[in-house]
Amino acid sequence: MTSLQDCRALDAQDPLRELRDLFALPAGVTYLDGNSLGPLPKHAGERIARAVREEWGEGLIRSWNSAGWFELPQRVGDRIATLVGARAGEVVATDSTSINLFKVLSAALSIVQADAPARRTVLSERSNFPTDLYIAESLCRERGFTLRLLEAQELASALGEDTAILMLTHVNYRSGAMHDMAAVTRAAQAAGALAVWDLAHSAGAVEVDLHAARADFAVGCGYKYLNGGPGAPAFVWVHPRHADRFWQPLAGWWGHAAPFAFASDYRPAAGIARYLCGTQPVLSLIALDCGLDTVLAAQPLGGMPALRRKSLALTDLFIALVEERCAGHGLGLVTPREHACRGSQVCLTRDEGAYAIVQALVARGVIGDYRAGPPDILRFGLAPLYLRFEDVWNAVEHLREVLAGGEWRRAEFNRKQAVT
Ligand SMILES: *Cc1c(COP(=O)(O)O)cnc(C)c1O
Repeated sequence: MTSLQDCRALDAQDPLRELRDLFALPAGVTYLDGNSLGPLPKHAGERIARAVREEWGEGLIRSWNSAGWFELPQRVGDRIATLVGARAGEVVATDSTSINLFKVLSAALSIVQADAPARRTVLSERSNFPTDLYIAESLCRERGFTLRLLEAQELASALGEDTAILMLTHVNYRSGAMHDMAAVTRAAQAAGALAVWDLAHSAGAVEVDLHAARADFAVGCGYKYLNGGPGAPAFVWVHPRHADRFWQPLAGWWGHAAPFAFASDYRPAAGIARYLCGTQPVLSLIALDCGLDTVLAAQPLGGMPALRRKSLALTDLFIALVEERCAGHGLGLVTPREHACRGSQVCLTRDEGAYAIVQALVARGVIGDYRAGPPDILRFGLAPLYLRFEDVWNAVEHLREVLAGGEWRRAEFNRKQAVT
């Protein structure tokens, strides 16, 4: 049996323990929702205030050059590249995940239409995040392709002569299950298809090596494990072998080879710069840059491999404590036990009351979230940058008390809100 003292001992030995100090975490809160919105880095407020006061206020339009605003998508993109196995100059931070997915899927469809016009199907997982499926559905309708949705275990055998693209999210938002990116990419490409990856729940949480996997395209989210703030710009990567082949469909002036020539015809920039569309949200890019400061602060302490080791230790502990301390309360585990198949979250099921249990936990300061089913899911993100092993202990203790006392049955915890 694991004790609170054991958890405190793990914290004392944790090489990443000092990174928690980089965040302005509210007192009395155990934050297990950094996979949905990362917490505020302590220095972000002052950095953004300075950008407002000095760069906007004093520098005015000159700041596009003097404060480096114009290069922010590339500069921030280069920092993200180091976290996902991409190279400098291959990633831009821009737009939203949904919009970037539209751009890369469209470019991928163009490549398939040119190289293998008989391929007409886009494959994805039925439990993929809905916006990914909606974007794919709308593009397939527009371009005359068919979107086919399958269960994860059906994908390998469904790849075939008709498959144009396999579009997957690396770590599933509902279950926390993680694909083997290299193996799945290899299988897709062996079948003649392109592999498009969404790294929304991976970047900053698990090790990703896009080049080693020989992936074709990738997008990811800035406001989850990268701690870039609400609505932070997302990112986009295209393998250099594809980057110059086609226009992306949102051909705006920021993706032009010479935007300040103000030419009346479009000439795409070389490389990833053509995946920019219009003027970018400078203040939000600065907030994302602050978020990346927190993730990159782990570099001298072992970087992503060290974060991944701690993430697995946190999720292992969470699972073990739930099974030791909440046994008999009807909880099920959906997240895979096998490390290679697990992201950085633990998802539990319960036939009754999942929503209300999450609300009761939030009222106690333990913030996780609920995802409607079936099966209904209690979702706990365990971000290794700022969570302590003691936090895991406390979260499970609160969960045990909420279940044992029947507190979740109260009416106040059973009223649904729009966003949880
Ligand atoms: C969080 C998430 C998104 C978010 O997309 P937005 O365009 O930022 O709303 C998209 N896809 C996946 C898989 C996600 O987890």
